[in-house]
Amino acid sequence: MTAKLIKGTEIREEILNEIEGEVKQIKEKHGAVPGLVTILVGENPASISYVTLKIKTAHRLGFNEIQDSQPVDLPEADLLALIDKYNRDDSIHGILVQLPLPKHVDEKKVLNAIDPDKDVDGFHPVNVGRLMIGGDEVKFPPCTPAGIQEMIVRAGVETKGAEVVVVGRSNIVGKPIANMMLQKGPGANSTVTIVHTGTKDLEGHCKRADILIVAAGVPGLVKPQWIKPGACVIDVGVNRVGEKISEKTGKKIAILKGDVDFDEAKEIAGSITPVPGGVGPMTITMLMRNTLKSLKFKLGIE
Ligand code: NAD
Repeated sequence: MTAKLIKGTEIREEILNEIEGEVKQIKEKHGAVPGLVTILVGENPASISYVTLKIKTAHRLGFNEIQDSQPVDLPEADLLALIDKYNRDDSIHGILVQLPLPKHVDEKKVLNAIDPDKDVDGFHPVNVGRLMIGGDEVKFPPCTPAGIQEMIVRAGVETKGAEVVVVGRSNIVGKPIANMMLQKGPGANSTVTIVHTGTKDLEGHCKRADILIVAAGVPGLVKPQWIKPGACVIDVGVNRVGEKISEKTGKKIAILKGDVDFDEAKEIAGSITPVPGGVGPMTITMLMRNTLKSLKFKLGIE
């Protein structure tokens, strides 16, 4: 059997087109566009390329995008003052502080200073609590888990009553996606198990999964024989396992591998995400959707 490929690159285009259409409508009707500020402290190359992609996407969608680049030695108090300024700015609906921050800055303190109603990353404790409560309480689901759920739904996979097994318990992927899949409602209502480094029988749990979500950061952790025939497999892992020369640009690029052995797993699973081109493209897409949601909350139309 060859699994159906769940392509993040295609789903991203569908969602971005939906957002673009909505932004135009809101602009015509309400004269407002989503405002997103990205604060980058220092010049970490990976952060710069991630931020550049965010800016490009925001511009394509007609957002008001502000790139606020600050020197690496910016004092913590100045960064907190900057966040306070954007918290008060009515034209800004989403505030994003690019991580990691320099060592002299307390990351937790900075993230907690963001107004929860502008926390489009969904990492503020208030938004973590809202996610836990579920239903109408949820404002900004964290972006990677929101992307995962969207992929499962758009692939037409039944989630109600499904056995979902999540490998990994991080605060940015494992715990929130597990929490989202167990909520009562569409695209969820599943029976969820979280497995991690303390789990005794990883294989036994994975074998039961109708939907297997793997976010461990260990290349090839999940063996093909652990996959239930016909299961939906979402591979969140992005592991650099070497380098190669890009055919397109002639430059050196990383060879990426997921946490699941894709070539063999696709012969057993019913549907599967590739790495790269699977979950990866969804994160920025969902960030854009959260920023649009934030404007809609403000206008009272969400
Ligand atoms: P993390 O290191 O914070 O958490 C990994 C989790 O996996 C831990 O809870 C750990 O208990 C579990 N784990 C690790 N090894 C295990 C093992 N041998 N057996 C069982 N459980 C094990 O990582 P994270 O931030 O959640 O990211 C996980 C992976 O997803 C990474 O490869 C990361 O690059 C990728 N990721 C991708 C995206 C994206 O595509 N947009 C976003 C976030 C993370």
